[in-house]
Amino acid sequence: MIDLPPPALRLRFDAQALADNWRALDRISGRAAAGAAVKADGYGLGASGVVPVLADAGARTFFVAHWSEVPDVLKHVPGDWVSVLHGPLTAADAAFARATGVRPVLNSLQQVALWLETGGGPCDLMVDTGINRLGLPVGELGEPQVARLNVRTLMSHLASADEDSAQNAVQLSRFRDVAGAVQAERLSLSNSAGIGLGEAYAFDLTRPGLALYGGIPRAELAEAIRPVIAPQAAILQVRELKPGDSVGYNARFTADRSIRAGVVSIGYADGFLRSRAAELALRHGDVALPLLGKISMDMVVIDLTAAPGLQAGDWVDIPYALPAAADASGLSQYELLTVLGKRFRR
Ligand SMILES: *Cc1c(COP(=O)(O)O)cnc(C)c1O
Repeated sequence: MIDLPPPALRLRFDAQALADNWRALDRISGRAAAGAAVKADGYGLGASGVVPVLADAGARTFFVAHWSEVPDVLKHVPGDWVSVLHGPLTAADAAFARATGVRPVLNSLQQVALWLETGGGPCDLMVDTGINRLGLPVGELGEPQVARLNVRTLMSHLASADEDSAQNAVQLSRFRDVAGAVQAERLSLSNSAGIGLGEAYAFDLTRPGLALYGGIPRAELAEAIRPVIAPQAAILQVRELKPGDSVGYNARFTADRSIRAGVVSIGYADGFLRSRAAELALRHGDVALPLLGKISMDMVVIDLTAAPGLQAGDWVDIPYALPAAADASGLSQYELLTVLGKRFRR
């Protein structure tokens, strides 16, 4: 079969910026080492692209959510560098963990029992200090089965670290209290935003995700973090609109003058959701190219008046300054990254 031609959508990522962001987060983590959350296909950037860059930068602990995400990561790093946050739900999950050397994060007494019954071995343990999502309640840590575990990382997860919430100090104090109750090689509490809360929250290992990829969950991190991704889409066709011509589904835009318009190869199926229409423009360098009409599944139409030289085959920039794009669209920075579709060349 002939090779596929390159698609008209590309997701450039700046490997240097990604590595620099990891180093900055590792530095701000103080005496704690920074790991890297690479779940959801490296927050949409492509795990196969980001894992080797992060490993070269110095990351030695990688977090995914699902067992299905492990193989892509194992192409680049050894199994004992990898933890699976959802833990084992079935004996097949536990067998897969042992066969690959990947550590399960045990989240409940049921998972603890499954892990021990199927043979035990090195694992991580999540304790719930207030998010009430995954993790053993503090009161269950004294159960005899927990004492039988070989825990490498005892961890908890902050619910509100991106806000100045009283919940942060409450979770910190609960985590300090349980730290002595379980035998573990190292302690880990902070995600990206938690790193911004300061060294008291860092313990031995931090688990940044969002900020690696250019997200800024707290102002304290704004100086240190650089943008990483730059999505681009190609113009498929240029057309001349006459006054009175309407554009796209439901004719939501009608031209009041002659407009040179470009049809661009990105739509909501690629993660350019309709809530982003509020931002009004794609860009070509510094030039804004306003959106005309509704975002379609596979296309948007833009006004090329400000960049008259652009033609079919030329590339335009999809704005992805994460904090600003989140404010304007009502999507979170996390959503903006993870909705980036499969049709991008990564
Ligand atoms: C996703 C996740 C992280 C990373 O969080 P960010 O906010 O993206 O830095 C850390 N720990 C756990 C348990 C997670 O689920």
